Amino acid sequence: MIIVDSIAQMQKLSREWQQQGLTIGIVPTMGFLHAGHLSLIDECHQHSDKVIVTIFVNPTQFAPDEDLASYPRDEERDCQLCEDRKVDAVFIPKSDSIYHHNHSTWVVEKELSQHLCGKSRPTHFQGVTTIVTKLFNATRADFAIFGQKDAQQALIIKRMVRDLNTPITIKISPIIRESDGLAMSSRNKYLTPKERINALAIQAGIKAATQAFKMNKKSSATLKQIINDKIINSGGKVDYIAIVSQSNLKALTEINEPCLIAIAAYYGNTRLIDNCLLT
Ligand code: AMP
Repeated sequence: MIIVDSIAQMQKLSREWQQQGLTIGIVPTMGFLHAGHLSLIDECHQHSDKVIVTIFVNPTQFAPDEDLASYPRDEERDCQLCEDRKVDAVFIPKSDSIYHHNHSTWVVEKELSQHLCGKSRPTHFQGVTTIVTKLFNATRADFAIFGQKDAQQALIIKRMVRDLNTPITIKISPIIRESDGLAMSSRNKYLTPKERINALAIQAGIKAATQAFKMNKKSSATLKQIINDKIINSGGKVDYIAIVSQSNLKALTEINEPCLIAIAAYYGNTRLIDNCLLT
């Protein structure tokens, strides 16, 4: 496995692979890898001859009051996990090689980014779309794998690639959960043992709402109330609970089309997200 830290070296390596007729897949991550990331790597192997994992804690997707400085990092362990997973290259660029001191160009998606996490994190998605574009340019990948865990991000990236005619295919992998149902996340490390247990209420809320939907409850308000009660009763603080169209992320009052139930909630200072598709 090759560890690459410069854009020029990454582009050179990818060009060589392409000249050999090999396809390239990329799994963009912020590191501190867990089984969710590893499932994306496995998926990437299904689509491409060469698999690149990128590890970059992207400063522009964090607001000034967010957890950029404390975001968990362990590059050595990440590289070992990638090697075990037969990754061909890990791209770990330095921040100043990605963002020049006078960086002034942004990729902005203007519709889907307005909803859900975009409301509480208004600059987040332009940081994501910009870094993802840069990583696509650096790796020249044919495929990219993203997780359904970040459902809104996945939709925005798909929209961006469509709108900009980027020559890459986006694949979405399912959410990987801990055995008790908590969606895996690098940020779970912040949770105290008590918060970790309380946070199971998010998944319990989703399950209860799904059950109610199956019993023919189609009102979004009713389902959101079910989830809200679970989270509040467990000591969590709701950022949002939304039931939105899968196609445009607009809020639905009645569930009469495929929808996404999306949740963001705080346990202590830790903001967790989770979601589920209802059809
Ligand atoms: P992150 O390192 O948190 O920025 O995530 C990198 C990629 O891994 C994103 O596409 C995420 O959606 C995906 N991911 C994170 N957690 C999970 C999970 N529990 N299951 C599946 N994919 C995940």
